[in-house]
This record gives sequence, structure tokens and C-alpha cells, in this order.
Amino acid sequence: MRLTLFRKFLLLLVPAFVVLASAGIGVARHLEARDDTDDLAARVGTQAGHIALALSRHDAIRQPRLADDLMGACASEVAVLCAELRDAAQVRRASYPVVIGCTAQQPTASIDLAVGEDEAATLFVGYSTAGVDQQARRRTLMLAGIVSVAFVITLLSAGFGFRLLVSRRLDRLHRAITRAANGVERVRVEPSRGNDELGDIIRAYDALVVREERHEAELRGAHEKLDEQSRRDPLTGAFNRRHVQEHIHEVAEVSGAALALFDIDHFKRINDCHGHGVGDEVLVEVVRRIGQMVRKQDLFARWGGEEFLLCVGEVGDGGLDRLAQRLLGCLDSEPVMTSAGPIVVTSSIGLVAFPLRTGTGAHAWADAVMVADWGLYRAKQSGRDCAVVIDVQDVAAGGHQVESVPIGGGTLSVVPHVVRSAPVSADAVVPA
Ligand code: GH3
Ligand code: MG
Ligand code: MG
Repeated sequence: MRLTLFRKFLLLLVPAFVVLASAGIGVARHLEARDDTDDLAARVGTQAGHIALALSRHDAIRQPRLADDLMGACASEVAVLCAELRDAAQVRRASYPVVIGCTAQQPTASIDLAVGEDEAATLFVGYSTAGVDQQARRRTLMLAGIVSVAFVITLLSAGFGFRLLVSRRLDRLHRAITRAANGVERVRVEPSRGNDELGDIIRAYDALVVREERHEAELRGAHEKLDEQSRRDPLTGAFNRRHVQEHIHEVAEVSGAALALFDIDHFKRINDCHGHGVGDEVLVEVVRRIGQMVRKQDLFARWGGEEFLLCVGEVGDGGLDRLAQRLLGCLDSEPVMTSAGPIVVTSSIGLVAFPLRTGTGAHAWADAVMVADWGLYRAKQSGRDCAVVIDVQDVAAGGHQVESVPIGGGTLSVVPHVVRSAPVSADAVVPA
């Protein structure tokens, strides 16, 4: 059976009400029984006291007959009271002498009885209504107390039930919605769903969150895929210029790095002789070979056409010359196997230490690319299949041919030297 909020409240409050009512009725009954007994005892005491008082006033003690008459006249009244007491099972052995011994109270009402054969004496029998009124007040107060306690306890139960069934769950739901609305995070309310109307709302909200999460994950995945695609060259899978622009500063911060710009020699001839398809195969193979040699922290990208950029995090033993030889050998040591047969591929390289630092300070990475590009151009001029390594630190030292390279906002004095390909060892271009 579905437990709606209303039913839950009923389940919580009805037993509380029943228990309270039973307890209240029990207490009231007990008090009433005591009141009855007290009342009777008071009445008997009062009457008996006044009988005794009247007897003494009429000097009845010294007139035995009158005393007997008086007693006889009162006996029925006292006997009735004693019988009531016995019925109430409170005073089992209540009897005439005991009653006579009771203490009198100040009467608030009285009756006069004419006693004696000639009605010579008048017996004043007084009884007090004060006790009865007091008990009535006490009973009213008691009832009001019981009703108040029951009301307070019921109120507390209702409050507790509201907090347990509604307030806390509403609070969780509210917090979750607020966080989502403020863009902090989207969270589920799960722990306190419950099988009621509020539970339905929480479940619906959770389902919404799950759907949104899934939707977001799909969007994120699609976005990452698109972002990755926008950074890759579709033909070779190498990173493109955009990726370099965004990430080159990460490598630029490492000292001992190097920047190489290399271009395939006479690539147009390959296209012209064997077709663009074969040219594409060569490009793919070049990327594969260089890609095998670079480490994660290096940056390798297709800079454009048949031109590539390599930013090496750490040059390693042998410095720039050794790196240049390894790069050259990586391509020209073995012909590229294409669908048109093996093709010998060479490249020309411009190489410079990175980041570019001179006496005037560190230059922007774009300046380093310009210097490397200048070196690449010089390598082409030097007969291709070679690298031009550019030194900007040794400019001040004598004995070298100093040349000017245009860079952003001026020129840079450099000392270039040509490095030719050397037999390739099994070493990687970038030492691990
Ligand atoms: P150099 O030794 O002076 O660099 O001569 P080169 O022929 O390599 O240089 P050039 O700039 O004259 O020609 C480059 C050619 O590369 C022209 C262009 O059609 C070709 N090319 C550029 N991108 C691609 C490509 O993605 N696929 C193919 N197959 N060819 C391309
Ligand atoms: Mg070329
Ligand atoms: Mg080119």
C-alpha cells in the first residue's frame, strides 16, 4: 500500500493520540476514585463532627437517653455515608464509633433536626460544601492539565513528524536545487526519497539530474573529441599549428630545450612524379618515424604542407648538432616504402636553442620560430639534406661569421653552422 504523507501522519499521530487518551482516562479515573473517597470521608467527618458538637452542646453526654435519641436520629445519615464508603471499598471497617471520632470542620451549610421523644432538643447537623467545591475545582484543573499535556504532546509529535517526513527532505531538495541553480554542481537527493508525494518529486528531480549528467557527459565527450580533432591534422594525425600555439609555452619554460623546423626536400617532385596519394603516404610515414622518437613532453606538429615543427624538452648529450644529425638520419637513412615503390626522402632543418635567450633577455617563442625558419632557408641554400644550427650565445666570441636574422621588431645577430647527416645509430632522436 502506498503511504501518502497524509497516511504517514495518521500512522504517527493516531497511536500517540490513543496512548495519550488512554493514559489520561486512566489517570482521571484514578483521581476520581480518590476524590470520591476523600469527598465521602470529608462528608462523614464533617457530619459526625457536628453531631458530636451538637451532643456536647446539648450536654447530651450527661443525659444518656437524649444521647441515644440523638444518635438514633443521626445513625441513619451516618450509616448511609458509611455504606457509601464501604461501597467505594476504601473504608472496610468504617463504623459508628470511628465516625464519631472524626474532627469537625466549619460548616457552610446545615440542617436542623428535632430529636427526642418530645422533640425537646434540636440537633444541629452541619456539613461543609467547601470540600466538595474544592474537589470540583481540583477535578477541573486536573482535566485542563491533562488536556493541555495531551495537546502539547500531540503538537510535539506533529512537529517531529513534520520535520521527519517533510521538512528535512524538503531541505535537502531545496539545497540540491539551489546548488544546481547557482551552477555550483548538480547533485542527487537520493538518501531520503520515501514512497510518498514528496518522494515522487525527489525521484523526478533525481531522474532529471541523471539525465542532465548523462547529457553533459555526452556533450563533454563530443566537445573533447571536437577539440582533439581541431588540434590534429586529419591526414597524418599529427598535432597542428593551433595546438602548438596553445602548448609551446609549456616546453618553452624548460631550459635545455630546442626548436627544430624541418621541411621535406623537393616534395613537389614526389607529388609530380607519383601523384598526391603517394605524397600523402610519404607525409604519413614521416610523421610516424618522427612520432616514434619524441617523448610525451616534446611537441611535434605538422606546421603546414610538408613542413614540421619539433620542440624538444631536453636536447640531451651531444647538444643541438647531435640532435640535428639524428633528425636528418631519421628520414634519409631508409627510403620510404610507398605504393609507388621506395622513395628516398631527405629534409632540411633549422635548429635553435629554446627558449630563445640573448643578452637582451628572453624572446617570444614566435621569434624562435622565425630564427629556426631562417636556419631552414639557409639549409635549403646549403644544398638540402642538412641542418643549420643557430647559436645566439656565442655571438660575442670572435672567429665566427655573425649574421643578422629578422625577428619581430628588429634583427638578431646569430652564428649559424651547417650540420650534415651522419650514419644513424639505434638511439632515439630524443634520449629517454
Ligand atoms: P623544397 O625542397 O624547396 O622544399 O621544395 P618542395 O618541392 O618541397 O617545396 P614546394 O613549396 O615547392 O612544394 C611543396 C609541395 O607540397 C606543394 C604542395 O602541393 C605539396 N603539399 C602540401 N601539402 C600537401 C599534402 O597534404 N599532400 C600532398 N600530397 N602534397 C602536399
Ligand atoms: Mg619542401
Ligand atoms: Mg615547404
